[in-house]
Amino acid sequence: MPPVVRGETINPGAREQIPFPDADLLHVAERLQPAERERLENLHHFLQTEVRPVVGPFWDREEFPFELLPKLAEHGLGELEFSGASRLFKGLAYAEVTRADVSLSALVGIHNELVLDLLNQLGSEEQKQTWLPGLRRFEKVGCFALTEPDHGSDIAGGLATSARRTDEGWVLTGRKRWIGGGTFCDFAIVFARDAADSSVKGFIVESDREGFQAAKIENKMGLRIMQNADITLDEVLVPHENLIPGCASFAATNEMLRNSRAWVGWQGAGIQLAILDCARDYALGREQFGKKLAKFQLVQEQLARIVGNASASLAMMAQLAWLQEEGRFDMPHAAMVKATTTRLARESAAAGRGLLGGNGILTSHEMSKLFNDTEILFTYEGTYEINSLIVGRAITGVSAFV
Ligand SMILES: Cc1cc2nc3c(=O)[nH]c(=O)nc-3n(C[C@H](O)[C@H](O)[C@H](O)COP(=O)(O)OP(=O)(O)OC[C@H]3O[C@@H](n4cnc5c(N)ncnc54)[C@H](O)[C@@H]3O)c2cc1C
Repeated sequence: MPPVVRGETINPGAREQIPFPDADLLHVAERLQPAERERLENLHHFLQTEVRPVVGPFWDREEFPFELLPKLAEHGLGELEFSGASRLFKGLAYAEVTRADVSLSALVGIHNELVLDLLNQLGSEEQKQTWLPGLRRFEKVGCFALTEPDHGSDIAGGLATSARRTDEGWVLTGRKRWIGGGTFCDFAIVFARDAADSSVKGFIVESDREGFQAAKIENKMGLRIMQNADITLDEVLVPHENLIPGCASFAATNEMLRNSRAWVGWQGAGIQLAILDCARDYALGREQFGKKLAKFQLVQEQLARIVGNASASLAMMAQLAWLQEEGRFDMPHAAMVKATTTRLARESAAAGRGLLGGNGILTSHEMSKLFNDTEILFTYEGTYEINSLIVGRAITGVSAFV
């Protein structure tokens, strides 16, 4: 029995016999118009043949595969927000990128939801002209710098990075933590508290400004391809034009966080498709007691649990996409789907890991990469607990935050 290694299937051909969408038992993708469905199939093919097979070693080495960026751009992933695509297509595209690699889906999601869309909706004309063309082609990369070392869940109220207005421009001082893409970005969207009126404002800070320093956070157990950074801002002077006009208060930023929470909901669904791929391949290839694992009833229960969780997540996200199209989407919806799909992903990842037996704990198998990446989805974009509190407040009218 050959060992399963990332990018290879233990049972070549087994998955090919199952037509795409091979894991979407509720046929959510069939709700797409034919042209978008074809586009999704092409994207799926590209991601499964050119991305998923090559990313494992990058994950091991905690390196970012920069050579994939032009290819992602070719497939329109640098400008999903501009594509005129339906919400359902965008969501299923995020799920398919996640199925290939969670870190790259983090980059694509942050890029579209928290950088491109933020600048497009809240930026000045000059900011849009300067940054959007390069961003759309992935020739430029921005990052979203909100979290701080001493303020994670309580960032909205606790944010300590300061912004002081001077005649020459704004002077920013403080520290940011966990910032995805922070080590290689061209600019960061930095949130800082205006020393004059205490409101939180957003600024474009180019990474080559004096006083801007980014240090890679090493030894992460998951999302190892994404480079997360500790950023230090030491009296960084940016011109007045770098204040993002629509980010003059935290309310507008919160709108962006609502959208990005929905994107993580799609990640929660997408990672379960990957978990199903790995678990099913293994069960169809590995033999014990003279039979394939797939022949055992308890193994089938684990596979049924994973595909059930994945399908529930996809169906929930499809309904959310419909609410978004209808303009009836609010923060409690985003919080609920984010908390739920990532909770289900955790259960699916545990089942998948167990199904691979001892091999499930080897980092050389894709399943352990997925198991570890799931933990990040559970925690970032508002932890499971914080999102549950948002839902709890919405359904009881009682805030239990403090
Ligand atoms: C890999 C990774 C990538 C990230 N990328 C980015 C990024 O690109 N940009 C960015 O700005 N941020 C980013 N983040 C930050 C992320 O959003 C925060 O980690 C998250 O908001 C939690 O903050 P914290 O880690 O400080 O945990 P804490 O806020 O310290 O929470 C610790 C624990 O306490 C719980 N807790 C806190 N308050 C309450 C409460 N009131 N009731 C019940 N439980 C509570 C939490 O749920 C959690 O379990 C990233 C984080 C990670 C790990």
